[in-house]
Amino acid sequence: MSTPAEDRLSGKVCAIQSSITLEVSAIAARLKREGHHVIAFGAGEPDLPTPQPVQDAGIDAIRKGLGRYTAAAGLPELRAGIAKRFTDDGYPHEPSEVMITAGAKPALYLAFYALLNDGDECVYPAPFWSSYSEMVRAAGGTPVHFSTSAEMDFQPTVEGLRGVLTDRTRVLLLNSPNNPTGTVYTAETLEAIAEVVRERDLFVLTDDIYQHLIYTDEPFTNILDVAPDLQDRVLIINGLSKSHSMTGWRIGFAGAPAPVIQAMTRVQSQIAGSPPSITQHAALAALDDPSPAGRKESLDQRRRLIIAELAKLDRVVTPEPRGAFYIFPSIAAHLGKTYEGTRIDDANVFSKVLLQEKLVATVAGDAFGAPGHIRLTYCTSEADIVEGVRRLGEMISELK
Ligand code: PMP
Ligand code: GLU
Repeated sequence: MSTPAEDRLSGKVCAIQSSITLEVSAIAARLKREGHHVIAFGAGEPDLPTPQPVQDAGIDAIRKGLGRYTAAAGLPELRAGIAKRFTDDGYPHEPSEVMITAGAKPALYLAFYALLNDGDECVYPAPFWSSYSEMVRAAGGTPVHFSTSAEMDFQPTVEGLRGVLTDRTRVLLLNSPNNPTGTVYTAETLEAIAEVVRERDLFVLTDDIYQHLIYTDEPFTNILDVAPDLQDRVLIINGLSKSHSMTGWRIGFAGAPAPVIQAMTRVQSQIAGSPPSITQHAALAALDDPSPAGRKESLDQRRRLIIAELAKLDRVVTPEPRGAFYIFPSIAAHLGKTYEGTRIDDANVFSKVLLQEKLVATVAGDAFGAPGHIRLTYCTSEADIVEGVRRLGEMISELK
């Protein structure tokens, strides 16, 4: 008798959970296909169109027959364009210090794989984007997080960071504007963190995917803005999924010291060959316009609307997001109650009941290291925002 397939799986793979954001959106999509009016506050994906010049460049590339392998690190002209973009932003990079990947996700994974020996620790502030812990683990590292608080605007503090450092800490991961809180790190926060980075000789990974989505007049700040001396140990992750609505096109990039980029490229050359070629040709058309007009304004309008709608709910505490496209209310006051006989013990159950009973997709805070919260993305129509929050309020009013 042969071994059942599930018993053949490696211990490594069994330790990895699938992406909760993508799982929630798959359930929402199924319910939609079945004809239900589902409100999609689940996975963060802009509903705005991919800019026309990018679409045209993609079609043109297909017609010209450019669907062939590219160099493993990406098209030289795209690497040069991204290097220029980093440099124009104030983070000088040569093309040899840039690589292209199939979305920001593989860039993050390759970075962890390149920088962490088995058991090395990668630290980051909580709440954090849910994929980080699984990716660090998949790369053999140990994810470690430290808390931040809504009262302190979710800014990472030196005390918090120092509290989790050990002699196995190798990498510090930062993400601003932040998924899921929508906070934006200040220069003061990053200056203080930079001190610890120097002192402990940490490597810093900064996930800047929401760089162009800040709705207040505060600036975007990368740790290199306040500590340019750290250039030899900073890796910047970015991509076009959020800025250009190219989530399914899969295009991300990394900028880092050349030896790190070379190491990541070696792995990419073996496991992916090259990033997708048509998408890279289309991405060239996005280079001139890092933040296409009108997008931020449209998302800001929805941000303001969802803040106002959530404020009407009973004992739902909602820190105001200033960047990215998520809002992260605390529903802790409603835990321990029951909904039609089901006890709502935690945000996972809350979010499940909300989807099943009210057809509103959200993601429970547990996967973001913040139990008692739910995450809503407001990349959806204004009508759905109003209706979705109304349904959320209705469920809360029906809790016993
Ligand atoms: N980082 C953060 C913080 C994100 O929210 C996302 C969203 N998917 C990514 C990275 C990855 O983006 P993608 O792989 O679609 O480029
Ligand atoms: N980053 C988005 C989110 O957090 C998209 C889904 C994903 O890639 O996890 O919802």
